[in-house]
Amino acid sequence: MSNDIEFTPLATSEPLDDEQPITTNTKPTIPRLRRRPTLSARIEQLTDVAISGLGPVLLVVAFLLLSIVIFCFFTVVLPFHYTWKKNEDEEGSIGILDNLAYILHFVWSCYLVWGIAANYYYAVRTPPGSVLDGISSTGDVMFQDVLQQMETYTEAPPTCKRCLLPKPERTHHCSVCKRCVLKYDHHCPWIHNCVGHFNHRFFLMFLTYLSIACIYYVIMGAGPFMLAADMDSNNTWPYWLDRSIVAFGEVLAVAIGFAVGGMACWHWYLALTAQTTLEQYNNSYMKKICKKRGESFSNMYDFGIVGNFQDLFNIGPRGHYPWYTALLPLPIPPIGNGKRFERSGRGYILDFGEDDEDMV
Ligand SMILES: [Zn+2]
Ligand SMILES: [Zn+2]
Repeated sequence: MSNDIEFTPLATSEPLDDEQPITTNTKPTIPRLRRRPTLSARIEQLTDVAISGLGPVLLVVAFLLLSIVIFCFFTVVLPFHYTWKKNEDEEGSIGILDNLAYILHFVWSCYLVWGIAANYYYAVRTPPGSVLDGISSTGDVMFQDVLQQMETYTEAPPTCKRCLLPKPERTHHCSVCKRCVLKYDHHCPWIHNCVGHFNHRFFLMFLTYLSIACIYYVIMGAGPFMLAADMDSNNTWPYWLDRSIVAFGEVLAVAIGFAVGGMACWHWYLALTAQTTLEQYNNSYMKKICKKRGESFSNMYDFGIVGNFQDLFNIGPRGHYPWYTALLPLPIPPIGNGKRFERSGRGYILDFGEDDEDMV
């Protein structure tokens, strides 16, 4: 990208004039004549098809890998450290306190499994957000309805050249799903879905629970792993699950922990600075340009770490749910319809020119 690209600073904090009538000139933009696709465009198309086709396979792979680790934990790792003590003789009575460590670890691990499974399910099953959500009309009326939901009254709104529909702010066209997605972050083949406005929380919390679970598993599984890997000595292996599976579970937890943990940290940074993955690229570019011009850049959707945290979980004074719900893997919807976002102040929108189809 060249630094010569022009951009127009937009004062975005002014309230919109609700009295202003919606324009009737809302015909979709006529698409340009199709040019012959270049080699890179063809490769991109093939990649999109491959990612789309790979999605269901990766869902099964993710389910199997997670199941192996969870199964290893409850059949070997937890019993390796703690077992449920029973009253075997009449001399001493075993109370609940004697089994406290076992109970705490069992409840904690069940909570992690619930967090992983529920958030993964919601991330996969929740539609990320469509421009046509809540609109059942057809034709030009539909186009106008989207504008109404965007609360924009411009004669030339940003329009997706593939969907031929207005693009609300933060919306982006996913070339894999072939649709525009509200507050688009990225297409994730591991959930066979886009990460967008309505499933962002579930995706992030899935990464979070999985990262914590991996750290917990790696620590707890170190003992059983050493025992399973110690093939030379005549140690006894008291578990019916094969030792190679337990060793594999530990290696898997380390690998997933590094990969997913890194992603979780990155997505938490983005969430707490109110940026999507795409916006982060734009914003870092804008920061450089502003710096050269002696201006300071600020993200117009950023309400500070606490404000962004509340927005993410729909909690606290900015949201509709109590604070503790952030710790519960429940299908709580995000704030707003994803077509209009509260802004903290003056923002900048990058103009990539006429050829760009997705970056508006
Ligand atoms: Zn589109
Ligand atoms: Zn997608």
